[in-house]
Amino acid sequence: MDEQTHRPGPDGTDDVACALCGTRSGSETAPPTWLCSVENGSRRYYCDECARTHIRAIEGRLDSAWW
Ligand SMILES: [Zn+2]
Repeated sequence: MDEQTHRPGPDGTDDVACALCGTRSGSETAPPTWLCSVENGSRRYYCDECARTHIRAIEGRLDSAWW
């Protein structure tokens, strides 16, 4: 296991982690390739790999949440 050193930002904010596989982006903002979904009022991020795999499920949930 190679675990990256987790350093909180100056504001105490965490780096963005994928909601599915837990991959960390290494920064407070998700990379442009990541997918951002708002579920139950909180933001969830999905890495590009999970986004590709679960794009339909994620979009389906997003639609139902918005309606
Ligand atoms: Zn992921």
